[in-house]
Amino acid sequence: MTNIVLFGKPGAGKGTQAEFLKEKYKLTHISTGDVFRFNLKNDTELGKQARVYMDAGDLVPDELTTKMLIDEVNKHPDTNGILFDGYPRTISQAKDLDVFLTSIGSQVAATIALEADDEILVARLLERGKTSGRIDDQDEEKIRNRYQEYNEKTAPLMDYYQEQGKFHAVNGIGSIAEITERVSSVINNL
Ligand code: AMP
Repeated sequence: MTNIVLFGKPGAGKGTQAEFLKEKYKLTHISTGDVFRFNLKNDTELGKQARVYMDAGDLVPDELTTKMLIDEVNKHPDTNGILFDGYPRTISQAKDLDVFLTSIGSQVAATIALEADDEILVARLLERGKTSGRIDDQDEEKIRNRYQEYNEKTAPLMDYYQEQGKFHAVNGIGSIAEITERVSSVINNL
């Protein structure tokens, strides 16, 4: 399995790139944000538990998130690899992911970060909020809170993966095709 972690701040384009990369490399795309939103919409038990955190732009607790993630991965036993989008977002999640992947005889091949300036991303999210229907995209305070969560809890993952020699950063500003090309050149060199 070639497992890739797509890394970046909210609005950096992880979901957009994942749509292209999953086709190109025949990977299974798992977006924890999408799975949570599906559960919210269908008012499942998981959705009920996650809603309060998501609406505020806070991270959902690790235990709940990791359990859901493992259930999702287990739905695809024959995959070529997983494209993780929005997971892991804390050191604890990254460690749990390593333990889980090891238990199925696999590992993270690479973490690829899409880099972009905060101000560009906030403007992008506010624009997306006009059509996405996402409560967490519509309010600048909630968006700023998501960046604070990122800076405090997710940014330390860069060092975590760097220490393992698995961290790659690409410039996340440009056309969608240009960015796909940059990410692809990382994957092709793995
Ligand atoms: P996203 O679509 O990736 O921006 O995620 C939307 C929201 O879902 C986040 O603001 C969190 O509330 C929640 N979420 C998604 N992935 C995770 C994760 N790995 N850990 C904790 N919360 C998450």
